[in-house]
Amino acid sequence: MKKLIAGNWKMNGTEQSSDALIVAVEEAIQKNPAVLEQCDFVVCPPFLYLPMVKDKTSVVAVGGQDCSDRENGAFTGDISGAMLKDIGATYVILGHSERRQYHAESDVLVAAKAQMANAAGLITIICVGETEAEREAGAQNDVVGSQLKASLPQGVNAQNTVIAYEPVWAIGTGKTATAEDIRAMHAFIREKLVQTLADGANIRILYGGSVKPANAAEIFGVPNVDGALIGGASLKADDYMGIANAVKG
Ligand code: PGA
Repeated sequence: MKKLIAGNWKMNGTEQSSDALIVAVEEAIQKNPAVLEQCDFVVCPPFLYLPMVKDKTSVVAVGGQDCSDRENGAFTGDISGAMLKDIGATYVILGHSERRQYHAESDVLVAAKAQMANAAGLITIICVGETEAEREAGAQNDVVGSQLKASLPQGVNAQNTVIAYEPVWAIGTGKTATAEDIRAMHAFIREKLVQTLADGANIRILYGGSVKPANAAEIFGVPNVDGALIGGASLKADDYMGIANAVKG
């Protein structure tokens, strides 16, 4: 399975800086096309810059950072999965911990959004992960297990869904989970997927949380790590590509 190198640009940048970033990534991949034998690429810019970013690349897929649980209509400020698909996006991140925290998104809402996104033909990247307090209490498996159970809609399969394990305490903090923490949680997620889905063995499980070039090789060496969801380091083309280049052939 190729590793998925997913960049989550969050609410950063300008039209100009987003343009420069995707052009730099595109050039780096074109100069070293062998990387495409090991990795698939997707970046998730702010909605406004998505069409522009898509037009600047032929090898990097683009995705949204969220979408609505509704099809269309009077939902001011929302963007539907079908709209993302319409402008050429192929992925959408759902249930990111920042959405869960700052927009009070529940597992049920995430599942409803995922259902709509899949119906529109998008691949969802569904995020799960425990907080620091939950890990300190030893509750990480319970938390992630129940998020998985309730955040995945009917009809999930390896073609339409990617899981991202992002321990909340490792996001944007510089703290990375240890290789052993990642191994244990990815094995647990794999077990749950295999138990509940016909092709659970083939669903990609990404790790996210302070992934950078310096720790990427170790993380990619962990069983059941099928890629990375990268925030801060995806804003610099060198760091993003440094992470991709850490994937061993
Ligand atoms: P980070 O963010 O790489 O900046 O920790 C990861 C994420 O939130 O997806």
